[in-house]
Amino acid sequence: MDIVIPVIKTLQKWIKDYEHPTLRRSARERNPYKTLISCLLSLRTQDVNTDKVSSALFKVADTPEEILKLPLRKLEKLIFSSGYYKNKAKTIKHVSKIILEKGKVPSDLNELMSIKGIGRKTATITRVFGFGKADCIPVDVHVHVIANRLGWVKEKNPEKTEEGLMKIIPRKYWFEVNTLFVLYGKKICQTQSPFCSKCVIRKYCKRIDVKRSR
Ligand code: SF4
Repeated sequence: MDIVIPVIKTLQKWIKDYEHPTLRRSARERNPYKTLISCLLSLRTQDVNTDKVSSALFKVADTPEEILKLPLRKLEKLIFSSGYYKNKAKTIKHVSKIILEKGKVPSDLNELMSIKGIGRKTATITRVFGFGKADCIPVDVHVHVIANRLGWVKEKNPEKTEEGLMKIIPRKYWFEVNTLFVLYGKKICQTQSPFCSKCVIRKYCKRIDVKRSR
């Protein structure tokens, strides 16, 4: 698809004015455990909360051993503002226990997903940003929605969207696709009503299923 590279290049220029999303920033540290825990904390909350809560938690505990030593109540209190804190605390404890038993965070996607509480999105984020192994494309709601609106895929299921994107996007861009689309989805191509009037990739977009825009 000959519009794929122009879109990616346009978004690469556009993103220079913005700070990267939290999970992408975690890639700088190359610490798969912290990326994994940040991803679990980021579920159903905003980046600003994930940032705040991850920093507060990692100041107190940033290894599976330390997390397991934390009393559950204290962990809940530390991550309270990320929302769904009771469930998240339980998941973080469970995931940390399994990782401690295994001796390290698995880098294999299937092994990661075999741990209760880790879905494909969290597993791919951990592999790409935690381990720096960009042989898959993390697909969250923004990546899924934008890929469908552009007309690059026609899928209801994010896993199918990932497969579709891997077929059309050259591999050297796989590491970046999530970052570009997540930030673009937060700022411009918003899920409920995209800012098509401000869109830098509008000329490439089929605007599939866009019923309302600004
Ligand atoms: S034209 Fe609208 S729907 Fe298409 S990518 Fe831009 S903001 Fe999203």
